[in-house]
Amino acid sequence: LEQWDKQYVWHPFTQMKQYVNERPLIIERGKGSYLYDVNGRRYLDGYASLWVNVHGHNDPELNAALREQLENIAHSTLLGSANVPSILLAKTLISYWPGMAKVFYSDTGAAAVEIALKIAYQYWKNIDPVKYAKKNKFVSLKEAYHGDTVGAVSVGGMATFHRIFAPLLFERIEVPSPYVYRMEKYGSEQDVVRYCLNELERVLASQHEHIAAVIVEPLVQGAAGIIVHPRGFLKGVEALCRQYGVLLICDEVAVGFGRTGTMFACEQEKVAPDLVCLGKGITGGYLPLAATLVTEEVYAAFLGEADEDKTFYHGHTYTGNQLTCSVALKNIELIEQRGLISSVQQKARRLAERLDALYEIPIVGDIRQKGLMCGIEIVKDRRTKEVFPRAAMVEHRIVLEARQRGLIIRPLGPVLTFIPVLSMSEAEMDEAVRILFDSIACLYE
Ligand code: PMP
Repeated sequence: LEQWDKQYVWHPFTQMKQYVNERPLIIERGKGSYLYDVNGRRYLDGYASLWVNVHGHNDPELNAALREQLENIAHSTLLGSANVPSILLAKTLISYWPGMAKVFYSDTGAAAVEIALKIAYQYWKNIDPVKYAKKNKFVSLKEAYHGDTVGAVSVGGMATFHRIFAPLLFERIEVPSPYVYRMEKYGSEQDVVRYCLNELERVLASQHEHIAAVIVEPLVQGAAGIIVHPRGFLKGVEALCRQYGVLLICDEVAVGFGRTGTMFACEQEKVAPDLVCLGKGITGGYLPLAATLVTEEVYAAFLGEADEDKTFYHGHTYTGNQLTCSVALKNIELIEQRGLISSVQQKARRLAERLDALYEIPIVGDIRQKGLMCGIEIVKDRRTKEVFPRAAMVEHRIVLEARQRGLIIRPLGPVLTFIPVLSMSEAEMDEAVRILFDSIACLYE
């Protein structure tokens, strides 16, 4: 299997020569917070299988929901027909977002974003193609990540993902994001927020006639290295969007479904976007499903007579698939039934105390956390905040060390990310932090 994996499978992001001699980790099964490889070794899933797993692997109730759905039907199309799970799921999702009216289904976070961008772009043309002819650009944050499709990378701020594909689908204007750890020259946390909002205002004031929407990852920029935005930033972005008449798209793909300690991140600042993108945890980590939610006002712009066709020409083959929607419905039901959100809050507080001990290791520069989303920034020099050269692969070596000790985590540049299965127990989390400590400490001689 190892040989065939190397021979046939193109894994994302790992073509660098350094990885070639590494033995692949081949997962065979999972139970709760643990993954088991084909050799029977077990690992704590400190990555929630790419930030998706909510109730643990192999959950009996999610399994049962899927089996029950399979007994009826696996898939029929949403084009020209409807199905029960997708109707019930849409109603459930809307119940969490009072400002939202319609759910558009897709299958990956990138697609949910792509759809939001296309809707936002077309929205203005549908309202008034002459008046809004120039409203074509998107604003996003420095180091933003919204997925890998061409539309999604064109609003992304991580150059490695889009650099060679220029010119991209959409024109993007970048504004600074409040990365407090590396913006000390601007002053306190709130000074950093004020600076970032002022910059956004400058852009909107001068260019709002050219801007269709602002897109943000609410509260935490995940892929950028778990950059936690201080309180007030998101609310400030919303206020500026309203003031200058541009749409606000909140990309909750990573932060939604309990990850940051509330069902959705926008709740924490009482923000009501025009469009919302959901994915990852929506099925509890079982199957690929994503959704874009829009307000009645946005949806209304797409209604028109045949002779003034305002249709949104977009539709995926498996959109609103019964298996994915039924497991998503069960996932949400279990989040409520099991009191998952309050347990995440409680576990997050304990985890913060435990993680603090990592500061004993001099190469730990900054620990950032929101709910159960944690980033540990590794630095060569704590005072200057200089990071290790990429070729030294320090973070990658820490990750391999942790794997040896039974914990799966991943690096994002110089940032180690610990994003556990949401149902991980306190004891398991303590064990994970112990392994993290030892794995970082042994790299520091
Ligand atoms: N938006 C955000 C904020 C994300 O973190 C991600 C994935 N990490 C995506 C979009 C893209 O989701 P997917 O990988 O499912 O396409």
